[in-house]
Formats: sequence, structure tokens, C-alpha cells
Amino acid sequence: AVDESAWVAGRVVRIHGLLNVVDTDDGRSFPCHVRRLLKSMAIDGRNVVAVGDRVWFRPPEGGGEEGVIERVEARSGVVTRGYRGRRHVLAANVDSVFIVSALAEPGLKISLIDRYLAAAEVGGVRPVIVLNKADLVDVAPYQWVVGLYTQLGYETIVTSAPDGRGIDRLRGLLRKGVTAISGQSGVGKSSLLNVIQPGLNLRVNEVSDWTSKGKHTTTTAELIRLNDGGYVVDTPGLRQFELWGVLPAELEGCFVEFRPFIPLCRFPDCSHTHENRCAVKDAVYWGWIHAGRYESYLKLYHQKPDEGF
Ligand code: GDP
Ligand code: ZN
Repeated sequence: AVDESAWVAGRVVRIHGLLNVVDTDDGRSFPCHVRRLLKSMAIDGRNVVAVGDRVWFRPPEGGGEEGVIERVEARSGVVTRGYRGRRHVLAANVDSVFIVSALAEPGLKISLIDRYLAAAEVGGVRPVIVLNKADLVDVAPYQWVVGLYTQLGYETIVTSAPDGRGIDRLRGLLRKGVTAISGQSGVGKSSLLNVIQPGLNLRVNEVSDWTSKGKHTTTTAELIRLNDGGYVVDTPGLRQFELWGVLPAELEGCFVEFRPFIPLCRFPDCSHTHENRCAVKDAVYWGWIHAGRYESYLKLYHQKPDEGF
């Protein structure tokens, strides 16, 4: 029998090579190895232990320096990278993801928002759409965007780092659980976080996986605890188009408003791209599905694998 009485519960906040830093709920921190038996259980190329995992570990004993992770709890929301269904888990038990875009400089890209939304749906993470740089534009012409996503059930927040618009709502959301921040470079992710907690410097801007010497650096996420409670996931080197790994067949399910129509298509394996008597296309025709969302679907469906699909 295994003696579990000495095991302690914790959460993996950082991974350095083979060492996992595990924080306990009472604020202590332990470097831990992973029990070899656990490592052999990896499936689908997924890593056995990821940042954010809830684990049980045996603390260091007899003057040892490192503890041993004995068990990993089942994961809820995950942020992944990879393609064609092979997904490496960057962060586990992520409650929400802020999908940040800018109303100007560089300007809204609906298809990019939809791409992040699809990744969030597949990962089981609650998306929050953040439309930043509201101080640079007249917001009225963008109300339809807010309306569109709000109607789809996604919380949508208009923000500005310099004038503080929407910041309290972001702060309130960040206090709850673990939040990942995504979005193109330059949309204002660092600026928003810096307004929320001055001095918080995430590595969100490193968009390359390769050092100047052409050497591949490992991308590991990190959980950073906020002063007001909650964690943000810091994912340096995460190229935005790799926040991803969705199979074409999974894509239809990521567009929440398609779901009621899918069973009504003539062909059970309808891809909703070219088929006759496709209920999704009919719904677009009648205006029940927004044409822009359908365009995003087509764009993502026809994506090449090496573009990160
Ligand atoms: P990141 O790459 O997403 O982290 O973006 P940054 O936070 O580095 O911001 C990119 C640029 O946009 C910087 O010059 C910021 O000062 C500017 N910026 C960020 N947020 C806002 C905003 O809400 N309004 C305006 N006018 N500029 C912003
Ligand atoms: Zn169809």
C-alpha cells in the first residue's frame, strides 16, 4: 500500500527543466521532481505535469532538497499549443482567457478574435473579449462588435489603459482564479496589466521562440500571483498563432451559434463549406448567423497545418 498521509496538496507555478516549483495554499514553495511512473503515462504527446496543475507531492525529507510529485489531479481549462490534435499543455486549470485586441493601432481583426475564441472553446477556458485603446476612437461605430459577442454569450469589455475605462471590470475578473492573456503584439496587454498592478512585468512581448543565435528556447509558462488575489499566466515566447491545435472537425463546435443548426445539415459529415442543403449556410443566408463569423469559420477551416492549425 502507498502511504499517502505525508502527501501535501499544491499547485505547480513554474517549471525549470526537470524541476517543478509547487506552491502550497499556505504560501510555501517546494521544488519537486515528478515520480517516474507518472511520466510514463503521457498520452497524445501531452505533458504529464504543466504549470497550473493541482498536484499531491511528498515534501523533501531527510535533508533532501527536492520533493516528489506523486499525483496530478484531473485538469479543467487548458491553454495549449500544437497542431493536428497534438497539443502540448502550456497551462492547466486556467479559468479565463482575456482576448485583447485594439480598436485602433493596429485596429480590430474579427477573424483573429474568432481564432482565439475557438482555441478557448477547445481548451474549455472562459473567454473574455477586451477591446482596448478606446481613447483613440469614437466607440459608437464599434457597438455592433460588442453586441455580437455579448449575444454569443461572451463577456465583452471596452478598455483604455490611459483613461482607465473598463479597468475595474478587468480587475474584478482577474481576482477570480487563473487568467491567461492573449492577443497580438502591440494591442496593449502589458499596458493594461501595468495599470491593474503597477510593476507587474509579464514577458508577453517576446513573440519569438528563437534566440538571436538561432537556438530554440523552451517556452514555459509561469503563474504570477496578483496582489488582490488570483493569478495571471505568463507565457513568454508564445507565438500567437500557436495558441492552438484545433482539428478541422472540431472547429464547427467552437462556433457556439452554429451548434443548433449542425444536426439539420443534409450530410452528417457536412463541413459547412461547399455542401448543398447545409443548415449552417442557410442560417447565414437568413441572418441568424453573422456573416463575419461564418467568414472566420471558412478562413480557419482552410488554414494550412503549418500555420498552426
Ligand atoms: P502588448 O504588446 O500587447 O503588451 O502592448 P503594449 O502594452 O506594449 O502597448 C503597445 C503600445 O500601445 C504602447 O505604445 C502603449 O503605450 C500603447 N497602448 C497600450 N494601451 C493603450 C490604450 O489603451 N490607449 C492608447 N492610446 N495606447 C495604448
Ligand atoms: Zn452544414
